[in-house]
Amino acid sequence: MILVANSEAWPGFEKSVGLLKANTHGVDAIVAGISEVEREIKVRSVGYGGWPNMIGRMECDAGVMDGTTREVGSVGAVPDTLPVAALAHEVMKRLPHVMLTGEGARRFASEIGFPLDDVLCDDSRRVWWERLQKELTPEELRAFPDIPLAPLSRTITDPERVRDTTVFLSQDSARGIHAATSTSGWAWKYPGRLGDSPIPGAGFYADSRYGAAACTHTGEMTMRCGTARSIVLAMRFGHSLRAAVDMAIDDLAELGTGFLAGVVVHAIDAAGNHEVASFRCPGEIKYWFWEPKLSKPELRVARQYDPQHTTQRGN
Ligand code: ASP
Repeated sequence: MILVANSEAWPGFEKSVGLLKANTHGVDAIVAGISEVEREIKVRSVGYGGWPNMIGRMECDAGVMDGTTREVGSVGAVPDTLPVAALAHEVMKRLPHVMLTGEGARRFASEIGFPLDDVLCDDSRRVWWERLQKELTPEELRAFPDIPLAPLSRTITDPERVRDTTVFLSQDSARGIHAATSTSGWAWKYPGRLGDSPIPGAGFYADSRYGAAACTHTGEMTMRCGTARSIVLAMRFGHSLRAAVDMAIDDLAELGTGFLAGVVVHAIDAAGNHEVASFRCPGEIKYWFWEPKLSKPELRVARQYDPQHTTQRGN
């Protein structure tokens, strides 16, 4: 058994550990942990502590993957709803679809009894509006939100400061490897913007035969590179976990156009190894780790991706 999650996971990590120890299916264990993270207002990137889009609405994204069946459920840009990782899990269990977005996801949530909840906390509302007041002219503020938003998305969106995700990867007692994610995405994002967190293959992927991966930070890059799937596929082709992660980050590093910033890659393999690597992120990145030989979860430091790494294709 193993559980890896990013530093934002603290409110729910022990819950997932407890459930894994009790032989709960890994998807149930990690969705339960993520629901705790979504409820915690002190986590300023997920659920109640998250950030609204440019027009002040919370639009949350989440994804869940069962690596044994390769079934996926995901929801994107869902308004007025928590918990969204649990909603993504319901998409997987109840529908012939993989992904629901926007009003359709909200409609499904109502059908299965998720309450309407604007999710937006007072502090996020205040910071959101103060930022707009700095950026917009008095005329624009009066007309807001009926003004062109696209020019603003270049200046106001601040992904380095106000964004993150929670990602959980587990191998359960039945050796099933699973992944789940949840985020409010970039603060001041353009309405309807999806990041990588609800996109299977980009923000998360799991295959119990080989391993799983999940990304945080710049979804605009991992969606272009299919990062999570790349890592698992490289392991299928026989690469070590570390080589698989380095090769996937090589692809991110090679991007030269578009929006470019940091990415953190989290990954586990079927042998119980794990890797968390930080690429172009300022400062030290931490993550949570647990395996049965540890008496309690540990907060560890991610390695920095080294462009001169020696894990080459073929290793
Ligand atoms: N990857 C997320 C997104 O692009 C945000 C983050 O993890 O910082 O929406």
